[in-house]
Amino acid sequence: MTKFRAKLTLILILLIGCSMLIVGLFMAKVLEDSHIQALEDNMERELKVILATGDWTRNGSDSELMSYYTEQAKRIKASTDSRLTYVRADGRVLGDSDQSPEQMDNHLTRPEIVTAAANGVGYTTRYSDTLKENMLYAAIPVKKGEQITGYIRLAMSLEQVDRSILHLWYFLISGLAILFVIAGIVSYRIAKGITRPIEKMTRVAKQITNMNYESRVPAYSNDEVGQLGQAINRMSESLQQQMARIQENERRLQGVMENMISGIMMIDREERIVLLNPAGEDILGFSAQELLGKKYNEAKQQYEFTKLIQECIETREPISDEMIFYYPAEMILEINLIPIAHEDEEWSGVLVVLHDTTAVRRLERMRSEFVANVSHELKTPIAAVKGFAETLLAGALNDKDTAVSFLQIIFDESERLNRLIGDILELSKIESKRIPMHFSPIYMPEFLEKTVSVLRKEAEKKHIELSLYVDEDIYIEADEDRLRQILINLLSNGINYTQDGGKVKVRVEPLEMNGDGDYERLRIIVSDTGIGIPKKDLPRIFERFYRVDKARSRSSGGTGLGLSIVKHLVELHKGTIRVDSEVGVGTKFTIELPVIH
Ligand code: ADP
Repeated sequence: MTKFRAKLTLILILLIGCSMLIVGLFMAKVLEDSHIQALEDNMERELKVILATGDWTRNGSDSELMSYYTEQAKRIKASTDSRLTYVRADGRVLGDSDQSPEQMDNHLTRPEIVTAAANGVGYTTRYSDTLKENMLYAAIPVKKGEQITGYIRLAMSLEQVDRSILHLWYFLISGLAILFVIAGIVSYRIAKGITRPIEKMTRVAKQITNMNYESRVPAYSNDEVGQLGQAINRMSESLQQQMARIQENERRLQGVMENMISGIMMIDREERIVLLNPAGEDILGFSAQELLGKKYNEAKQQYEFTKLIQECIETREPISDEMIFYYPAEMILEINLIPIAHEDEEWSGVLVVLHDTTAVRRLERMRSEFVANVSHELKTPIAAVKGFAETLLAGALNDKDTAVSFLQIIFDESERLNRLIGDILELSKIESKRIPMHFSPIYMPEFLEKTVSVLRKEAEKKHIELSLYVDEDIYIEADEDRLRQILINLLSNGINYTQDGGKVKVRVEPLEMNGDGDYERLRIIVSDTGIGIPKKDLPRIFERFYRVDKARSRSSGGTGLGLSIVKHLVELHKGTIRVDSEVGVGTKFTIELPVIH
């Protein structure tokens, strides 16, 4: 039972108890009065009967009368159990049931006698000197005609009256007690009726505090308590909606945070790290668990970075900077520090946005290197053309043999220049993915035969044996022109970097055969028995303009872009390329391509 219910029950019991007590007391008084009234009425009736049945107007001497009335009085007392006194009109007692009349004083001034004389009946309650106890007296006059000749008086011990009143009280008190118990039960039930909805509401309110927004108060009456319940329900509903909205927003924000490529770190007013998204964890090399709650300057971060945050905290100005980080990996980071301010407060922390610009910067560097390389590559043939042309103009033209050889050089150099520019344009086209791929099924034996025949003449010049190994029924889905370019580049490299009388081979093998004998990938191997590539150069030969031996490459008319183009074209086919080589033994390029796109 709750305190409130206990209190309410107590108040109700007290209220009911008090009112019952007052009513009880009042009733007891009324009952007592009416009891005495009834007694008095009874005595009056008895007196009248006694008056009517006895002879109370006798004549005779005093002693005669005295003995007669005393005798009468005693006789009546025997049957009524009440003291009877006969008083003559002058107040002299002539008979008494309990006392000898001679010893009794004049009774004319007794109040009951006085009122009986005046009103026809008189009562009084008084302490009797004769009987030494409280008595109720009733008296009526005895008349002869209109003349009062005496009074008869009945006296009843009040003890009897008191006893009966006590009885009355007992009855009343036990009645009251029973009523009190009933009142208690009723009070409890009433209190319960009132407090139960309130208790339920309290429970619901507690559940709402514990974030259980589904809980509702059952529908009660339409009174104030019921309205309170409805208000709680509405509040709970709106809380539930708001909570759902907040959670939805939180989920969205969480999604953004988790999937963001930039690292986000938040530092609060106490300079503690309060948020770190997964990208931030990766960039900084610390888990959120390690950093959350720590002060930014105790988070074991790079000194300059910590300094930058401190500067932002001190100046409250946004800061943007780029910095090289060495842990967990070397990278270039763009760091943006933004002081966060809410409308109501001046400043609430710093938002740190980390952006890994390593790739961008590397690309930029490669671009500028490329431009430098291109200019350099272009300069060489142009310088040659210019130099020889100048020499010719200066008079060499007159020497026919020299002139022809110079013109041949100029022609070769411009040819190289043309090739170079062609390759550069091709490469930039491929890199920028401007040319769409045209995939079509290619029947490999026929395709390879045609491709190889383009280079046969050149191979024959160097007495190089060009051989082809491909099974019947081999098809691939590819961009025919690009696939041809891949093979021509590799094969011409093979011919170029192989001594006279060497061998260049093309082999095609199906890969990843499935149960039905179908293959999912195709391996194309171009190998030669040429000069080979030193180990240290192997990782770089796919780079633009990279050549193992510049002079040799130039003399063979190479641009240093061939393998770079090959790699890009293979990647456009979603394939891979690999090189194995041993100096003086030969080189092997292995390409693997998916069959279906
Ligand atoms: P290049 O136009 O100079 O041949 P590539 O990009 O085709 O340029 O090749 C880069 C370099 O790789 C060449 O300069 C050469 O040194 C080396 N290389 C390529 N293919 C072979 C090969 N089959 N044997 C030996 N070296 C090769």
